[in-house]
Amino acid sequence: MEKKIKRIAVLTSGGDSPGMNAAIRAVVRTGIYYGLEVYGIMRGYQGLLEEDLFKMESRSVANIIQRGGTILKSARCKEFYTPEGRKKGYEVLKKNEIDGLVVIGGDGSFKGALNLSKEYDIPCIGLAGTIDKDIAGTDFTIGFDTAVNTAIEAIDKIRDTADAHDRLFIIEVMGRDAGYIALHSGIATGAENILIPERKTDAEAIITSLQEKERRKKLVNIIVVAEGDEYGGIELYRLIKERLPNLDTRLCTLGHIQRGGSPTGLDRLIASRMGYHAVECLLEGRYNVFVGILNNRMNYVPLEQVAKRKGRIAEEWMKVVETLST
Ligand code: ADP
Repeated sequence: MEKKIKRIAVLTSGGDSPGMNAAIRAVVRTGIYYGLEVYGIMRGYQGLLEEDLFKMESRSVANIIQRGGTILKSARCKEFYTPEGRKKGYEVLKKNEIDGLVVIGGDGSFKGALNLSKEYDIPCIGLAGTIDKDIAGTDFTIGFDTAVNTAIEAIDKIRDTADAHDRLFIIEVMGRDAGYIALHSGIATGAENILIPERKTDAEAIITSLQEKERRKKLVNIIVVAEGDEYGGIELYRLIKERLPNLDTRLCTLGHIQRGGSPTGLDRLIASRMGYHAVECLLEGRYNVFVGILNNRMNYVPLEQVAKRKGRIAEEWMKVVETLST
């Protein structure tokens, strides 16, 4: 039975991503617009278990749409993996008369929300906040576009210095299971090669192609590697140093800068749309789904069916990489 929703709560959980603030703002403002009370829970499920929550007003989210990070902070919470932990979480929600929960996070956070909603009568809505874009059922995740643009800016700068010294740069970008950041930033910076976990890395082919480039004096090369590729940045660097000692090869790991910074226009836009629709879902009784955008339309995927997007990099994309880097 649908119940009347009067008070909702929002939290950010797991790996943070730029644009989470824009999503929080959208949830709070939409909730208030529709006459709901909105609570913010600090530090994800950890803060829920510790009853670290407060009532939010429209002005609590003023001037945050452009800010990276998350004003609600994020955390990982071991206790929430256990039924006892989730019971505690439910009791806190019940005690505070919260009727619905919006969880902004990755697929792990969605699993937590799914388990909670299965065990207790508390509708949960997920918003995909992850820089990796590794969730099936949505063309965008909050933070991906910003992370790609941060990587692009960094790689452009590295290419300037690579060019000045005729160097080969191996640049490792984030993406433990998914190569989307590597693929998008690599294509956009004209990388000569892109290594991603979704494809087997042919190291011999890379060595051969670098030897051939060395012969024709094409010494400036950029190889973008996703951290989850079977070689990763360090191993590839070692291999190239060993096999091609005459090349001036450098390794640069971009790391956490990819998580921070002011969100791009696209991330602010999708976070605003998703946040708005998350509240609508609660009001309309469309419970326990995550809000995605597919072909520019809202796509509601049951939390039950959340799956990591895996191995779905189209061959066409790799053909583009190969063709444009010759
Ligand atoms: P992300 O949401 O970025 O994928 P995690 O996988 O670390 O990050 O998940 C964030 C938090 O969600 C975990 O610390 C835990 O509290 C909760 N969580 C993840 N998976 C589950 C699960 N299977 N059951 C209950 N809670 C979970």
